[in-house]
Amino acid sequence: MGTEQMQQMQQMEQRVSLIRRQMAEAAAQAGRRPEDILLLAASKTQSAQTVALSAGLDINLFGENRAQELVEKLEAGAYGDKPVHMIGHLQKNKAKYVVGRTALIHSVDSLELAQEINRQAVKRELVQDILIEVNLAGEQSKSGVAPQGLEPLMEQVCRLPALRVRGLMAIPPAAQQAGQNRPYFSALRQLFVDIKSKKYDNANMDCLSMGMSRDFCDAILEGATLVRIGSGIYGPRS
Ligand SMILES: *Cc1c(COP(=O)(O)O)cnc(C)c1O
Repeated sequence: MGTEQMQQMQQMEQRVSLIRRQMAEAAAQAGRRPEDILLLAASKTQSAQTVALSAGLDINLFGENRAQELVEKLEAGAYGDKPVHMIGHLQKNKAKYVVGRTALIHSVDSLELAQEINRQAVKRELVQDILIEVNLAGEQSKSGVAPQGLEPLMEQVCRLPALRVRGLMAIPPAAQQAGQNRPYFSALRQLFVDIKSKKYDNANMDCLSMGMSRDFCDAILEGATLVRIGSGIYGPRS
């Protein structure tokens, strides 16, 4: 390893250990066990080399936003032995690249996309785990199903035999200060609990994906089981 890489590695190690400490504190505050919360490194725009370096860190898994980037880094072996999730908006025509190659697709927000993922999964004779993405604040610029559309969507998605719904995901507005996004996280948690109690077919609701670099502690306080951290690990994106 060159000197520059050593420094980069040390810097990432320090950031991750700080994040782990903060995660543990938030978990303790909520009366939860730290091991029940996964740390996903959001590695979009990071090179395969940087990602490979970070695979040795105290993180649980990776997340990518673009299908092509995920496939390229996967083929380069950048994730080491860690799983990679698809966390960005997925176009229907890109589903074929990631189905069966990613442990979990976080961003399913329409029946059409679910049907296409199901079709690709049937073809490959596998079951694809997915989350349903919810647009909590009704932001036009963001994907996700509106909260009132969630149950109707669940009804239909749960009929697709090659999908298994593992939970919900949301990206609330960027938080300017601590505490600001707690009402959104609390709302997602409530939707999660409601859906779980309905016992849909092909659903095994155990993943609540919420919280990013600026608001992951609030997300953990409200029940997140997976936080997605990019800049907190890799530094600001250019
Ligand atoms: C980029 C991204 C993240 C991480 O964002 P940071 O603010 O850099 O932590 C999390 N989730 C999704 C869906 C992202 O696109």
